[in-house]
Amino acid sequence: MRITKEEFKQRLARKVRNYYEEEISEASNAELFAALSAIVRDGFAPQWRRTRISEKEQKQKQVYYFSIEFLPGTLLKSNLLNLGWLETVSEALEDLGLDLDTIATAEPDMALGNGGLGRLAAAFMDSLASTGYTGNGNGIRYKYGLFKQKFVNGYQKELPNDWLKSQDYWEVRRESKSVLVRFGGQVHMVDDNGWLVPQYEGEEVVRAVPYDIAIVGYQNGLTNTLRLWDAEIPPEGELNYPTIEDRRRIEDITSILYPDDSNYEGRLLRLKQEYFFTSAGLQSILNYYVKEIAKHDFSELPNYVAIHINDTHPALAVAEMMRLLVDKYRVSWDKAWNITVKTMSYTNHTIMQEALEKWEISMMSELLPRIMQIITEIDRRYVENLKNKVSDEVIERTRIIKDGKVRMAHLAIIGSHSINGVAELHTQLLETEVLKDFYNLYPERFNNKTNGITLRRWIQIANPDLSKLLDKTIGKEWRANSDEMLNFEKYLHNSETLNSLKKIKYDNKVKLAKLIKDRTGIIVDPKAIFDVQVKRLHAYKRQTLKLLHILHLYQDLKAGIDHPKRVVIFGAKAAPSYVFAKQVIKVINETANMINNDPDIHDKLKVIFLENYDVTLAEKIIPAADVSEQISTTTKEASGTSNMKLMANGALTVATMDGANIEIKDAVGEDNIFSFGLAKDEVYKYYASKSYHPRNLYENDAVMKRAVDSLIDGTIPNSNSEGQALFNNFLEDNEQFLVLADFSSYIKIQNKLEQAWAQERLWYQMSLVNIAHSERFDVDKTIKRYAKEIWHLNQLKIEKTK
Ligand SMILES: *Cc1c(COP(=O)(O)O)cnc(C)c1O
Repeated sequence: MRITKEEFKQRLARKVRNYYEEEISEASNAELFAALSAIVRDGFAPQWRRTRISEKEQKQKQVYYFSIEFLPGTLLKSNLLNLGWLETVSEALEDLGLDLDTIATAEPDMALGNGGLGRLAAAFMDSLASTGYTGNGNGIRYKYGLFKQKFVNGYQKELPNDWLKSQDYWEVRRESKSVLVRFGGQVHMVDDNGWLVPQYEGEEVVRAVPYDIAIVGYQNGLTNTLRLWDAEIPPEGELNYPTIEDRRRIEDITSILYPDDSNYEGRLLRLKQEYFFTSAGLQSILNYYVKEIAKHDFSELPNYVAIHINDTHPALAVAEMMRLLVDKYRVSWDKAWNITVKTMSYTNHTIMQEALEKWEISMMSELLPRIMQIITEIDRRYVENLKNKVSDEVIERTRIIKDGKVRMAHLAIIGSHSINGVAELHTQLLETEVLKDFYNLYPERFNNKTNGITLRRWIQIANPDLSKLLDKTIGKEWRANSDEMLNFEKYLHNSETLNSLKKIKYDNKVKLAKLIKDRTGIIVDPKAIFDVQVKRLHAYKRQTLKLLHILHLYQDLKAGIDHPKRVVIFGAKAAPSYVFAKQVIKVINETANMINNDPDIHDKLKVIFLENYDVTLAEKIIPAADVSEQISTTTKEASGTSNMKLMANGALTVATMDGANIEIKDAVGEDNIFSFGLAKDEVYKYYASKSYHPRNLYENDAVMKRAVDSLIDGTIPNSNSEGQALFNNFLEDNEQFLVLADFSSYIKIQNKLEQAWAQERLWYQMSLVNIAHSERFDVDKTIKRYAKEIWHLNQLKIEKTK
C-alpha cells in the first residue's frame, strides 16, 4: 500500500487531533510518536489480516520459532522501511518541520533478550516475513526487559527496564487464544477405556495470554506474527479466590528476563518460564492444527508444522509435544514419537559447558511431574533401543538422564530430526568434540547454518548515507537482493567512490562524537581511528585483551613512542552475578578515566565506555566504526554477529580465527582482514596437555610484563582489588581463555593496522571490499537455507499490494 506525502500529512493531522485534540505543531514528541505508530499500524493491519486468511486457505507449512529471547530493538523505522514508507514519511515530516529520528527516540528499545541469541531470533522473524515464508515467533512477554546499565564510580549498576510502561504500540492482546498451563501437584495414571490418562491433583493452573506483534515483510504484502505469552491468574473455576500471593506468584513467571546467557539463577523460576512458553505455544499450535488443518489426523502434522528449538531453553517442547499427543489426543507412543522427531529441529548456540542446561530430577518432578514421567520414558526407550548396538559407555554419555539430572541438550538432540551449529567451525566442533557421540549415532541430523544479520536494519536504517552511495553506484536492487552488493567491488579503484566512503564514515563519526560528548562530556576527534568492541561482557570475548592493548598504547605514548590517534569504544553489559566481568568493567572505566584526563596524552588516545549497550545504541556506534574487535579465544565464540554488522558498515575486522570470523576472512580475502592469534588446534593442545603456563610468557616478554604489571603497580587509580583480580586471572596456570598467549600477536596485528591506516586509499579500498562481501551474511540467505533444508517450507502466495 503506497502512501503519498500529502496523504500522510493529513493522516497525521487527523490522528493528533483525534487523540489529543491538538494541532501537529502543539504535539509533544511522545504524542507524535503515538500518532505516527498508529498510522503505521493502520498501514499494515490489512496485510496482517490477509496473511492470516491466506495461511488458512493455502495451508502452507508453517514454522514456529521457539526462543526464550527476542531482541528486536525498536520497530518504528523498520516497519516504515518494510512498508515502503520510510522515505516518504521522513520527507513529509521534514516538510512539517519535524524530524523522524527525533520522534523515533520516544520508542522504548524492546530488550527481551541478552545479546546475540535474542538478536538472531529477532532477525529471523524479520527475514521469514521478508523472504515470503509464514513463520511465527513464540516467546515470553517479560514485564521487565534486560536491565538498564549505569556506571557509578566506574561500577556497573543495574536498573529495572520497565519498558511496558510506555509501550503498547505494536502488540495486540488476543485473549480468545489463551490456554492453561499446569505446574506441580500430583499425577496419577488412571484407566479410561483402556487408555492410561493422567489425573492431576493440587496443581497450580496459570493462564497464558498471547500478545501478538506484527512482523512486516519487506515490501512484499506479507505480515507474520511474533507471539509473546503473558502469565495471568486463571479464570474462575480453576482458582476460586486468588490471594495477592497467588497473583504475585503467577505474575512472577513472566516478570523478568534472566540477565545472563550462560549461567542461570533462580533456577526454579527459570524452569517455570521455559515450560510456560513452550507449553502455551504448543497448545496453541495444536489447537490451530485441529481446527484449521486436519482435525485429529496427527500423522500429517510434520507436513504442516515445523517447530524450532532455539538453544536448549525450549527443549521441553519434545516432552510437551509427546504429552499433548499421547495424553490429550490419544496418539500411540510410537506414532507420537515419530511425529515429534519429524516436527522438531534444534540449534545449538554454544560449546561453553556452563550454558548446556541440566535440571535436577527432583526439581523437574516437583514442578512438572507428568513431563518428568515422559522424559523418563523417552530416556528408557532410548537406552533400550541402543543396547547391544553401541557400547554402554556411549549410551551412558548420551542418554538424557544421568547423575540425577536431565540434560536438556540431549533431550533436544534425541527428539529432533535436525541439529545445527551456527558457523562452520562451530558445527565442526560439535561434530568432532562436543557432540561427537551423537554425531556418530545420527550423522544425517547434523548440519551447519551460519548466522546472518538483517542488512535492512544495519545498512538501510542505521546507515542511510551508505545506502544512498550503494544506490548511486550499483543501483537500488541490492536493497531487496543482497547478491547485488558484490558489484560494489567494481568500484575498488574508483576515487570518487572511495572519497564518498571516507566522507560517509567521517560524517557518521562526527555524529557519534556528538553523542559521546552529550553522554560523557568527553570530546573525541572524529579523525582518529574509531576502534570498537561491542558485545556482552564475558571472559571468553576478551575485553581484557583490548584493555591490555590500551595499556600498552598508553605506556608507549608516555614513553614518547607515537601512534596514530585512536578512540577505543566499548559497549557491554555484564550479568549482575558475574563477578569477573564486573571487575573488568571497573578496571576499564578507571583506565579510561586515567587516560582521558592525562594532559600528556591529550587526544592521542581516548577510551569511551558507553553505558547501556542495546540495539538502539548499536545502530549509532556501528556505522561510525573504523575497526571491529572480534578477539574471542578461538573455539569459544560460536558465530558472532556484531562482526557481520560492523563489516557491512565498512569497519575492518581484527579477528581471531573463531566463529564466523573465519568465514569473513574467506569472503574478503586475507588482505582485507587483520587476523591473529592461536589456531583451533593450538588451543585444544593447551587444553589437552594442560601445558599453558602464562607466567613463563610474562617473565620473558618485557612489553607484556609492562602492560600486565600496570594493573597492580598503582598506575591505574581506584581499582586495586579489581586490577589484582585481573592480574591473578591472567597468570593462573591453564587460564582457559589464553589471554596472554595471544597478547604479542595481538600487538603485532595492531601495529600492522596502524600502518594500513596511514595509507588512506588502501584503507577505504579494504573497507569497500568488506561492505561488498557482507552480502554473504545477509540473514535472508541464512533463513532460506533453514526453510529449504530444515523446515521444508514453501513461500506463501500473497498479492503484493499497490
Ligand atoms: C548483534 C548484537 C549482539 C551480538 O554481538 P556479538 O559480538 O555477536 O556477541 C549483542 N547485543 C546487541 C545489542 C547486538 O545488536
